Amino acid sequence: MLTEHFHANEQELRLLVLTPTSKDARLTCQILESNGISCLPCADLYELCRQLREGAGGALIAEEFFGGEGAKALLRFLDEQPAWSDLPIMFLTLKGEHSARVQHALEALGNVLLLERPTKTSMLVSAARAVLRERQRQYQTRHHLDMLDKAKNVAEEANRAKSEFLASMSHEIRTPMTVFMAAIEHLLQTDRNPDRRHLLSMADASAHRLRNLIDDILDFSRIEARKVEIEQEPFDLRDCLREALEMFTLPAGEKNLKLNMKVTTDTPEKVVGDRNRVGQVLINLISNAVKFTPEGEVRVSVRPCANFLEFSVADTGIGIPEEKQHLLFKSFSQVDMSFHRQHGGSGLGLAICKGLVELMGGEISVRSHVGKGSLFSFTLPYKAVTEPKPEPAREKFDECDNKQQLDSLRILLVDDEPMIREMIAMMLEKRGLKVESAENGGDALKKWETGNFDIILMDLQMPGMNGMEATRSIREKVQEGDKRPYIIGLTAHVRREIKEECLASGMDRVLVKPIKMSELFSAIDDFFHNDLKLD
Ligand code: ADP
Repeated sequence: MLTEHFHANEQELRLLVLTPTSKDARLTCQILESNGISCLPCADLYELCRQLREGAGGALIAEEFFGGEGAKALLRFLDEQPAWSDLPIMFLTLKGEHSARVQHALEALGNVLLLERPTKTSMLVSAARAVLRERQRQYQTRHHLDMLDKAKNVAEEANRAKSEFLASMSHEIRTPMTVFMAAIEHLLQTDRNPDRRHLLSMADASAHRLRNLIDDILDFSRIEARKVEIEQEPFDLRDCLREALEMFTLPAGEKNLKLNMKVTTDTPEKVVGDRNRVGQVLINLISNAVKFTPEGEVRVSVRPCANFLEFSVADTGIGIPEEKQHLLFKSFSQVDMSFHRQHGGSGLGLAICKGLVELMGGEISVRSHVGKGSLFSFTLPYKAVTEPKPEPAREKFDECDNKQQLDSLRILLVDDEPMIREMIAMMLEKRGLKVESAENGGDALKKWETGNFDIILMDLQMPGMNGMEATRSIREKVQEGDKRPYIIGLTAHVRREIKEECLASGMDRVLVKPIKMSELFSAIDDFFHNDLKLD
């Protein structure tokens, strides 16, 4: 809480006095001091400026001193003062018409009180008191600003600590999740017993919900802490929309919902932006639309509008009461708790959408009618890409018919967690791949020197030599003409900086835990394509 008390030291509450003669100065100071006002006589404007630097409540300056270089020095000093400071100046003028000097002082000094000479004692004292009172108010403002600044720093520090805590917790949770998600995935592929498959499917759905929740909490805290970086890369807009919609083919099909996409012909093929973030917003909105629409249609559209692209996700679902719509983009808000209990969700989805859209320079809004449906729209500034680069056609790992290539592939798996080693090795071996394991970077280095490995799956955090150090050493030791291993980093960190550090250390790809086997196989698939390109 801010307090009304503040401390201005004694120096800061004195009045600097610059009068024509030293006798005048002595007399003025005597009068003021006998009225409890602390004073300091000055010989000229330079001395007055020197004393101002030590602190002063105000200054009394006689007109004839205000001119030449001294006045410029005073104006320079006042210019350098912080915004809260507006030094009150009592300006003693000569009797009669105001000279050009007085006009200049009035315009240039700002906070000026004119006193005509000869000045009555009572007038002088009350003006000096008013000047010091005003200065005191300025110190109060300074004090409040200081307190606000401190409170802001404390809040920012607390927010940083919260973000770091969330990031490290999510890291800790992701690692064991890799084991149980991979175990469920493996059992689902092999077990044919319907009862057990039913239980496994429930476990799988819950694991995915947990993973989504962790991702949401982390995303939300990073948006709040303004730590999300928005990429600016060309991407295919229709592809991005199609990919988002395709994720919902199954749940929409189960309800007989139509999923439609409409892109106007004047929408560019490729735009510059952050494909993943645009996709994330769309997926969130489509997921809600499918969740809250029992029958009818969900339609995703895009059209250009001035310098913006306007995206919208419309549904024919249950709709949102008008009085609840203002809650939608706030964190942890669910419009209908009974419905929410049925469908789950953290209540963070739309808050994340709003944060991301705003970070990308756009706005998000909603229109909805109960029983008729909802329309969520967002705008994004865009730049069209005129020369699209054709992507080379690619085969899928599963379709790779070069069996010999697969059989001879040598993989080194480096992770200090025995369970992760066991689980990943089991999944890879099931696909006919040969895997050797290492417990840390040092062990990996030794095995690599004799093992002639094609691919290294490298965990980051390991006791002794960590994954990045091991990668660097391997890259340094690879001689010209040697086989260059394809190194895939495995990390539970989602921060982009970490990913960039991994790539800078010499890794070719980075996968974030919990690792989906499909992602791992697709990364291995990349090795083949890299390799083929090199030949
Ligand atoms: P959650 O992740 O829990 O779904 P959201 O922030 O995405 O959280 O959504 C908050 C609430 O807004 C939902 O629980 C739901 O009540 C309401 N809502 C969002 N989208 C729709 C929609 N298309 N139709 C009806 N209600 C919706």
